[in-house]
This record gives sequence, structure tokens and C-alpha cells, in this order.
Amino acid sequence: MKILVLNAGSSSCKYKLFQMEDQSVLCSGLVERIGDPNGGTLSHKIAPDTDKEEKIFLENPYPDHSVAILQVIKLITDPEKGVIKDLKEISVIGHRVLHGGFYQTAPALVDEKTKDTIRKAFPLGPLHNPANLTGIEVAEKLFPGVPNVAVFDTAFGMKMPREAYTYALPQDLCRELQIRRYGFHGTSHTYLVHRGAAFMKKDLKDFNCITLHLGNGSSLGCVKNGECIDTSMGLTPLEGLVMGTRCGSIDPAIVPYLIEQKGMTAQEVDTLMNKKSGLLGLCGKTDMRDIHKLADEENNEDAKLARTMLIRSIKKTLGAFFFLLGGKVDALIFSAGIGENDNIVRKGVLDGLEGLGIKLDEKLNNVRSGEERCISMPDSKPCVLILPTNEELQIALTAAEVLNAQ
Ligand code: AMP
Repeated sequence: MKILVLNAGSSSCKYKLFQMEDQSVLCSGLVERIGDPNGGTLSHKIAPDTDKEEKIFLENPYPDHSVAILQVIKLITDPEKGVIKDLKEISVIGHRVLHGGFYQTAPALVDEKTKDTIRKAFPLGPLHNPANLTGIEVAEKLFPGVPNVAVFDTAFGMKMPREAYTYALPQDLCRELQIRRYGFHGTSHTYLVHRGAAFMKKDLKDFNCITLHLGNGSSLGCVKNGECIDTSMGLTPLEGLVMGTRCGSIDPAIVPYLIEQKGMTAQEVDTLMNKKSGLLGLCGKTDMRDIHKLADEENNEDAKLARTMLIRSIKKTLGAFFFLLGGKVDALIFSAGIGENDNIVRKGVLDGLEGLGIKLDEKLNNVRSGEERCISMPDSKPCVLILPTNEELQIALTAAEVLNAQ
């Protein structure tokens, strides 16, 4: 079974074609600067991450997603370098969709109703949902007869109990405007929970864990018996931890204060909090590698503060989720750019938690590897795992599940 995964952004489109039997990637790529009159780029990889990897780079104008995806189809089916002969070999296309809104609780086969749901959630995901829908509509046109599945990034959080997803605001207003905690990185958290249970040889329905997706955007998931019971992001990805350019949770009264004192518009405050805050606002850098360098080699106080605040915000949420689970936690799962690579942040987050049973093996923590691994002492409970996330594979697995359930 072959499954194509598409992630259409406003001016980009990422794709990956999986051979599901061995979960190998036949080809993958990224089209960028779609719609740019000065032209765009397409980077295509055949058999990526293997010793047979081959790269193709094309510079062309891609006026819209349709033209971009047509070019991708040409590459995939090219008589010489293509990886399939006929588009009909693709069993299903899995689409990443950011927001499912209030009522969409699960991934879904694309039909008029699903498209309408994505449309209704435009105000909740104004940058992503319209582009995601475009990707779906183009796929419907260019891959006739191939079913499409929408995999919502919000689906993971839709099983949270009411007390976790409700904001203490007037409820009529929340219902009217679909205001609730949704949570994001749901596809990654879902993947990590499944891989975590498999790694620990536990039944998913008996598996409790805290997933730490720590990248440029970061969120924690709290999982009881295999299901999400809380998550750190909210109505939007702005809530929660200190992130690369997002401020995370702050006193909401800062918003009207800024508007009153600086005459800022709501849009300007939104941009300030999403794009100019977080690590960037604290020390002028977003990448932890730069921040460690500044902090440790140049003794830069702003970088030190940014790092300490990032670690502290992760630790506080980790503590809250540990308590929600009554301390009955099988695994803490680190993932994404920082979670997978940054031993300093991991150590900082877990420092001083031995009293709770969490015992990091510092030697293992310092080993660099791209493998799934345990980095805690044998008697640590919970275990501390590093699991490289794989959102595209999770989308493919979910698309297969939805198709098989038909
Ligand atoms: P992501 O959003 O998952 O791609 O993560 C990107 C972030 O991961 C970067 O901004 C860095 O802060 C962090 N990162 C990536 N590689 C490393 C590394 N080797 N060491 C420390 N942090 C890293």
C-alpha cells in the first residue's frame, strides 16, 4: 500500500510518499514560494535517508498549488526517475489540517461535510486552514479516484475532559465563538504515545505518559490510559510554554494594557506575541544552539535568562501534568528539535526530581543519536525516553486506518 502525505501551507507544500508495508519513504519534497512572481523552488528527494538518496532541485514559477502539485506528480511518475508508474498506485492521500474546530473530534475521509468543517474553522486557523483546504481541493482534481483523508492537528486534544478544555469565560460566548482549549502538535503527540507504549511493551489503554514536543513551537501532552487528558497549548498555539518566538502563557491583562498604552491594534499585539516574543524577545535568538553558545561562551545574561525561563516553563507544566496523573506515569517522552537534541535543556528540566522517582542517566542523556532510546536509570519510574517524532508517518498511518474503517 502506498500513501501520499500532503501538507499544504499558504505558499508552500510538503509531501512524502510512503510504502506502508515497511514504512519506507519512496520520495519526499518541498515546494516553496508558491505564488511568488519572482519564482519558486522545488526540492525533491528520491529514497531519502538511504544510501540511494538522489536529489532534484527545480527553480520555476509556481503561480498556485495546482501548478506546484502537477510538477510533483511529474517527478513522482517520471519514466526514468519516478517511483510509481500510475497515480492509481496511491491508495489514499493524507492531508495535514491544522484546525477541526469545535465539532470535529477525529480524522475524516474528505467529503463535502469535511470540507465545510475545515472552512468553518477558518477564523480559528486563518493562516493554515485555507491553505490546507486548497491542498485537498487540488488533490481531488489532480488525483481522480484517490480518496483523501483530513488529519486534524487538533484531534488529539478533542478527547480531553470538559474541565480541561473549558476556559472560565462566559459559556454562551465560548459556544458562540468555538472558544476552548484545542491543543496543537496533535499528530506528533499521537505518534509519541503510540511509539512510547510500543517501546515500553505496554498496552496503549494502560499507558500513562507526558509527551514533551519541544521545538521552535513547543507543547506538552498529558496522557492517561492512552488518551489526552490535558495539553499546554490552547485555543491557538500561543498558550503554554516559552517558545522560539511565542511568549506562551502570560497575564491576559497585558493585552489591553498594551493596546491602551501603546495604541496598538489587536493584530499588532498578536504579531508581537507570536513572532517577536519568547526566546527571540528575551535574547534576540530563537535557536537553542545559538543561545547555549551566547550563554556559555560569552556569558551573555539575556541568553542565560532565556534558557532558564524556557527550562522553568517546561518544568512547571511537567509538574502540573505529573500531579494530574497522580504521579502514576510510565514515561516522559522528549521529542522534536530541542527534545531530541538538547541534553542541556533535558537535564535542566529533570534536575532535582529524584524525589519523585525521576532519575536521569547523565551519560545516556549526553549521547547523540537519532534512535529511539531510554535515557533514565534502570530504577527510574517514570522512564525517560527520547523518541524522534514523525508526523508524516502518523498522518499516513491515520489515513490508512480511516480508509480501512470504511
Ligand atoms: P523543530 O521546530 O522541531 O524543527 O525544532 C527546531 C529547534 O530545535 C531549533 O530552533 C533549535 O532550538 C532546536 N535544535 C535543533 N537542533 C538542535 C541541537 N543539535 N541542539 C540544540 N537544539 C537544537
